[in-house]
Amino acid sequence: MKFISTRNQTEQVTASQAILAGIAPDGGLYVPQHFPQFTVDDFNAEQNLSEVAVRLLGKFFSDDQLAEELPQICQSAFDFPVPVKPLSDGLSILELFHGPTAAFKDFGARFLAQCFDKIPTEQKRTILVATSGDTGGAVGCAFEHSTSAKVVILYPKGRVSPLQQQQLTCWGDNVTALQVDGDFDDCQRLVKAAFADKGLQEKYNLASANSINIARLLPQMSYYAYAALRHFKTSGQVANFIIPTGNMGNGMACLWARACGLPIGKVIFASNANHSLYDYFANGEMLPHSSIATLANAMDVGNPSNFERFAIDQAFAENTMCQTISDQQIKQSIIDGFSQYDQTWCPHTACGFVAWQNLPEEIRNEHWYLVATADSYKFKEIVEPLIGEVISAPASLLDLQSRASNFIAIKPELPALAEVL
Ligand SMILES: *Cc1c(COP(=O)(O)O)cnc(C)c1O
Repeated sequence: MKFISTRNQTEQVTASQAILAGIAPDGGLYVPQHFPQFTVDDFNAEQNLSEVAVRLLGKFFSDDQLAEELPQICQSAFDFPVPVKPLSDGLSILELFHGPTAAFKDFGARFLAQCFDKIPTEQKRTILVATSGDTGGAVGCAFEHSTSAKVVILYPKGRVSPLQQQQLTCWGDNVTALQVDGDFDDCQRLVKAAFADKGLQEKYNLASANSINIARLLPQMSYYAYAALRHFKTSGQVANFIIPTGNMGNGMACLWARACGLPIGKVIFASNANHSLYDYFANGEMLPHSSIATLANAMDVGNPSNFERFAIDQAFAENTMCQTISDQQIKQSIIDGFSQYDQTWCPHTACGFVAWQNLPEEIRNEHWYLVATADSYKFKEIVEPLIGEVISAPASLLDLQSRASNFIAIKPELPALAEVL
């Protein structure tokens, strides 16, 4: 399997080359040259997530230097549970927040860290990551004991929750947190500018860990495959997914899994008040806007970085929908989820629940999987007052809270970033 840029179909690279480069030399994003086709019989019912991942991703690493290491990579990366909880006849929750930083970003971050550590390098890599909340924490955690890389995390000042801030700033010596005086789009722009600067790129052996990296996207296909296969084996039906969406990394992974022939039906992108993707679905034009601060802050993205992957093939839009959800609706959804279903949702998952409630009845009667992206404890300042109860911390997060926090404040300009590298 080779990977090509969204902007140039002729230059081909292997999976490892695409992982190391992050973004393609022409500024495009790497995508698989074609989607290998699977049937449900290629998998067996007893396979756990990591085994499904090895089978599925094996095709994407077939001629790559990491091919033989893939089982080990998947086992180490996916060493936590992925519960699928039925809520009512037509609704199940796919809980993706049982990794060490309690958000779905752990899947991609841990897979990526494993890949980097297994691709030999002479010079230590510098992983640059822009985060609107959860990515940085997951990447910092995944690389904490890495011997081959150091990590530099850029996050927007005043836009992350106290717990997210702690998770961005509490790691060991090889992880540096930069508090950028700007919004998430500024952080993302800075990272892109650093990569575009050949001098910096070479001097620091820069590598990316953002959701544009295929080592983040590919592993995320696995849990969609896993849930859809389980659903199909018991019901004979395809599974439909509702995915809380910001940069479209999680959602694109689902569309890639569907493109591989897995039994996935409809897919709904649930955005918060950031509406550029919704507008695109409504009138066919992508007009990025600057990001709007919402309660679901890990989705505060006005210019989704994975959109370019979505736009290259019309087939991705078939059976795909988008909704935009206001903060008011998020609040009501958290209240409804608690009183009607005894569920405590983070604001991102709550967007997805509203999207489900909004479906016309004949569509809502099909079976849906609501993707739960973070533990509600991470957003307890928002959730606790709404449900009137105290949320207890997942064990993995308790340990982090006692650690010391360190960050460096910078202006949103490339020279400021270059200085701290
Ligand atoms: C990152 C994140 C999202 C959005 O995922 P994308 O891949 O950027 O679309 C949703 N919820 C949570 C909790 C997140 O951390």
